[in-house]
Amino acid sequence: MEQQSIQRKRRPLTEEERRRREIRRKKRRRKVYLARTIAALIAFFLIFTISFGIKQLASFLKNRWETEETADISQEIEEPVNTVSRKKVARPEFQVDLLTINEYSRPGYLLPEVKNIFVHYTANKGTSAAQNRSYFENLKDTHETSASAHFIIGFEGEAIQCIPLMEIDYAVMQRNYDSVSIECCFLDESGKFTDATYNKLVEMLAWLVTNYDLTPEDILRHYDVGGKLCPKYYVEHEDEWNRLIEDVAAYIEKFGVLEESVVE
Ligand SMILES: [Zn+2]
Repeated sequence: MEQQSIQRKRRPLTEEERRRREIRRKKRRRKVYLARTIAALIAFFLIFTISFGIKQLASFLKNRWETEETADISQEIEEPVNTVSRKKVARPEFQVDLLTINEYSRPGYLLPEVKNIFVHYTANKGTSAAQNRSYFENLKDTHETSASAHFIIGFEGEAIQCIPLMEIDYAVMQRNYDSVSIECCFLDESGKFTDATYNKLVEMLAWLVTNYDLTPEDILRHYDVGGKLCPKYYVEHEDEWNRLIEDVAAYIEKFGVLEESVVE
């Protein structure tokens, strides 16, 4: 029996057996090749990681060393650089009277981000916040133009929200998708805001910039994008515009509190 089996092993291989053996050999070779490739990749990855780690460590140590040298200055740097931008101002009082969704003044599209707050004037002397809101609302019927703003501040300091902050308005054509706009009423031919309007505007701006993690420098005039004469008085009087930005910063400093967002 054993003798027979040995004999069988020794007999010359058939064509079929040889072919199979060749296939097995090829398979083995492929496996070896794959294993070598994987090993090479792992080795490359390790070398890369280690060298990156060494570089990181070196720069960390270098930074530490430099920090120790200038300990006094670095301690100051670790403090919030701009405390104004970290403070939050509470939501001011305003009436919420949203426009009907329509393609001329409230398209209902999502406002994905806010990079700037724009200030406008209504360009319609002596009209109230309510009248300007009606104008926006009626555009759905008159189709006169496309226009709106998130907020309108009247000349008595009353404020109306026309559009939710989650939606875009039609105020600054190129910037409808990343900004919030405030329209201001006025009585004076010059376009200057009344004290009541001005004070409410400062409050509204302070609330908006702090709750969008912006700074007073992110407040722009309509004029700053597209060059429209809006808000007229503050385009013609650059110093008065700068004063407004300073007043917003001062308001935040005075009334802002260091806490998480207070936006609704
Ligand atoms: Zn404007």
